[in-house]
Amino acid sequence: MASHLANIFGTEQDRVNCSFYYKIGACRHGDRCSRKHIRPPFSQTILLPNVYHNPAHDPVCKLTEKELQEGFDAVYEDLYCELAKFGHLLELHVCDNVGDHLIGNVYARYEWETEAQAAVDNCNERWYAGRPLYAELSPVTDFREACCRQNENGECNRGGFCNFMHLRNASPELVRQLRHGQRLERKLHPPQQQGGGGWEPSKRHRSASPPARRGRDGEDRWSRKKD
Ligand SMILES: [Zn+2]
Ligand SMILES: [Zn+2]
Repeated sequence: MASHLANIFGTEQDRVNCSFYYKIGACRHGDRCSRKHIRPPFSQTILLPNVYHNPAHDPVCKLTEKELQEGFDAVYEDLYCELAKFGHLLELHVCDNVGDHLIGNVYARYEWETEAQAAVDNCNERWYAGRPLYAELSPVTDFREACCRQNENGECNRGGFCNFMHLRNASPELVRQLRHGQRLERKLHPPQQQGGGGWEPSKRHRSASPPARRGRDGEDRWSRKKD
């Protein structure tokens, strides 16, 4: 860990630009960081901070691993289907970190910058699961670089407070289905013009969502902000 951090800090570039913000799209110092966080004017990647709330972080949580995974899969599918309406979604990642700047962060990467901008504009006018969304263009381009390698090997001793992404993974079968669905829809209904265009997915039957979650949030977790 120490040598990993040493590689990042103290480089020429780091004196000006915050390498955490640049790589991960979020830095624990936030606006008080001594280095610059420069929001990109254009990007394929968007960040929706603090969207996913993992029930497992609640000390009284009694859900089983299976129920937690099903609940997360329902959220992942919901986000994927909604965000794919704005363009060709290449990646969708959800952080399982617990530090303030990374908790529940959702990152989506599109094929085109115009698609990412459309998603940001739309999400900023909406609520998700009872909370207002705040979307921004993010400098993150390479999620391999943003993710904690130690965590992937099960060796990160910082746990959820790590400053690199610890991703919550959706079930591989679900991810495969969603990607396949997007590919198929885009083939059947190609975008009108290059650089913009999503698809209107037909949602699968949501037998996977736990009844408690469905009861609390309602079937549709999305709503519009009021003026
Ligand atoms: Zn910073
Ligand atoms: Zn870590």
